[in-house]
Amino acid sequence: MSESANLSVKAAQAIILQRAATLPVESVDLESALGRVLAEEIRANRDQPPADVSAMDGFALRSADLPRQSKQSGAAPAVLTIIEDIRAGDRPARTVMAGQCARIMTGAPVPAGADAVIRVEDTRLLAEARVEISRAVDPGNDIRLRGEAMRSGQVVLTAGTEITAGVIPVLATVKCAQVKVYRRPRVAILATGNELEGLDEPFDPDKIPNSNSYALMAQAQALGLAPVLLGIARDDAQELAQYLRRGLAYDVLLVSGGSSVGVHDHVRPTLAELGVNMHFWRVEMRPGHPVAFGTTADSLVFALPGNPVSSMVCFEHFVLPALRRMMGNRRLFRRTLAATLAHPVKIRPGRTEFVRVVLKRGAGPDGSLAWLATSTGNQSSGALLSMAQADGLLVVPAASAGLAAGQTASVLLLDGSAFQDEAGFEE
Ligand code: AMP
Ligand code: MG
Repeated sequence: MSESANLSVKAAQAIILQRAATLPVESVDLESALGRVLAEEIRANRDQPPADVSAMDGFALRSADLPRQSKQSGAAPAVLTIIEDIRAGDRPARTVMAGQCARIMTGAPVPAGADAVIRVEDTRLLAEARVEISRAVDPGNDIRLRGEAMRSGQVVLTAGTEITAGVIPVLATVKCAQVKVYRRPRVAILATGNELEGLDEPFDPDKIPNSNSYALMAQAQALGLAPVLLGIARDDAQELAQYLRRGLAYDVLLVSGGSSVGVHDHVRPTLAELGVNMHFWRVEMRPGHPVAFGTTADSLVFALPGNPVSSMVCFEHFVLPALRRMMGNRRLFRRTLAATLAHPVKIRPGRTEFVRVVLKRGAGPDGSLAWLATSTGNQSSGALLSMAQADGLLVVPAASAGLAAGQTASVLLLDGSAFQDEAGFEE
């Protein structure tokens, strides 16, 4: 156990990820596959589109039949005879000959003889199944070629791909009613502390409401998991051992509180007594310093600090990448962006500090548009509201004494930060 080494956040993440293995594969229906991770390579089972098809509602024709010059320069419009009506899903019956065309719908196969489509807006219908066209088009105009979107046999998705809303229709197109995905980790959450008051217990002015269980629950739920709340264990080695034993039946056990140096902090020694192999305790970060990590043959155990913000920040840095690895995700870490500090931030050097910030679009130091980061206010590790308001965690490097206003820093984006008040583009 690396208690003495000054462990950086990244070094701690490396120790955890070395021990977080991707879980076995299971099959799920496409209807419930959103958010899961593909455990198989997916190939197209047909050409898409299945034939050369029209990209527009219009007329399929021979481009050589159209006037070569534009209307303005005086060429006479072409008048073509409509020989057929082709809808998507139809098979054309006739070949388009010189002077002929076929009415065609978006997605319908282009008939033999035709080499282009002209959209209906560029035509004028005449009597007796004839149409006037005053514009020339090149061969291939508004035709989507067979196999242009995907070719039969082509790999369209690789194992490790997260099943997003963009991936689901690809799976439907290749007729995957069931997909192989990685099993989701089963997560248990235990709060510890004599001072804690459960959500269902009567109000006691001397107690501290248990919020950590629900914070961790929500953080796991946001990853698509269904964590189990084990309740609150008192600061008593025996009671704690009972709860921890139950927790060790899960893939991941999250314990909050009791991981520090207080005389009533029994979590780490009790875990060790239960056979958990402890790999580290304490990481050079703020908030979150007294975090510990251990494993059994079947479980990962995170002993998270009791302070509400510390517990959540440790989840972000340590639990989240482990869970994503177990779920088969290739992308393990939160997206970061570079933001400009709207004000100075001071820290005590020696530990990487994570400042809860709100992000806004505004003028950066050189006047161009940038993300501006503003602290949510009180940065105490007990200031729960700072997490409720934050768009992200701004990273102040351990070696610095802080950052000046106008300096650029990395911000880890938290859930909810993908959305903003107004559409963020010009048109
Ligand atoms: P500990 O790590 O057990 O020393 O706890 C540090 C601080 O976090 C104490 O002020 C606790 O009251 C608080 N705390 C511990 N567990 C929880 C919890 N489940 N919910 C809210 N606050 C907690
Ligand atoms: Mg405690």
